[in-house]
Amino acid sequence: MSRIDLHTHTNFSDGSFSPAALVELAHKKGLNILAITDHDTTDGIAEAMEAAQSLPLELIPGIELSTEFQGRETHILGYFIDRADPQFQTRLERLRSTRLDRIQHILDRLHTLNVEISLAEIEHVAGSGTIGRPHIAQILINKGYVRGMKEAFERFLGVRGKAYVRRLVPEAAEIIAWITDAGGIPILAHPYWEGLNANETVVSCRTMVDQGLRGLEVFYGTFSARQISSNLHLARHFGLLVTGGSDFHGTFKPEISIGTGRGSLNVPSTVMDRLRLAAGR
Ligand SMILES: [Zn+2]
Ligand SMILES: [Zn+2]
Repeated sequence: MSRIDLHTHTNFSDGSFSPAALVELAHKKGLNILAITDHDTTDGIAEAMEAAQSLPLELIPGIELSTEFQGRETHILGYFIDRADPQFQTRLERLRSTRLDRIQHILDRLHTLNVEISLAEIEHVAGSGTIGRPHIAQILINKGYVRGMKEAFERFLGVRGKAYVRRLVPEAAEIIAWITDAGGIPILAHPYWEGLNANETVVSCRTMVDQGLRGLEVFYGTFSARQISSNLHLARHFGLLVTGGSDFHGTFKPEISIGTGRGSLNVPSTVMDRLRLAAGR
């Protein structure tokens, strides 16, 4: 059974659990290493650290940042970042403001589709956390426009949805540099290289490695054994660190469980040894 989960979200971004409740849940599920990787913010980590203090659970500070790489939305995880770094926090603030612009555009599109949602309603659902599409989806459900998260994304919010709006985000190289500048380790999140052949995959990976990428999230909540083995192969080929996590969002992604993903996730303990070594911890 996996006792490590290095990819989880709290209500400081688009997860449904508070940091303290997430730590409590991880402990109850038998995990002893947990990373919190909220989108665009490190603000939930202090609360989680405090909650973990009295438990046999190690809390790893992390973040997940959206980027663009060769025209595709690509997510980069950062571990062991110096959260007190003022330059990094300023950069995050800038990133969060692009998120808000996008939400406003989505609301405008929904309005033309006769779906009425206000920013105030979203802020109410999101609380103090980073606003994301799952919050809009939750309101669509609450107001009876759709029956569930899946339908909300298929009909409105997903790439093929009628109210989809692309978010303007920095290039992967820039985000990798931000994480590195703040003393963190940049890892490519949930790589699946869709639409690329084996050779193109290697070339893409090499480009990111040249940009400073240090590892791949080989183990992921929804990955098949085949996806895991091809990512593992790639990581070995480039001498990259290997990480893994569920991408737990609580009730916003009910099919994903903390620690085990869809049931078969099992992050090996060697992952943590190497990550710690790389971070000098
Ligand atoms: Zn992601
Ligand atoms: Zn995530």
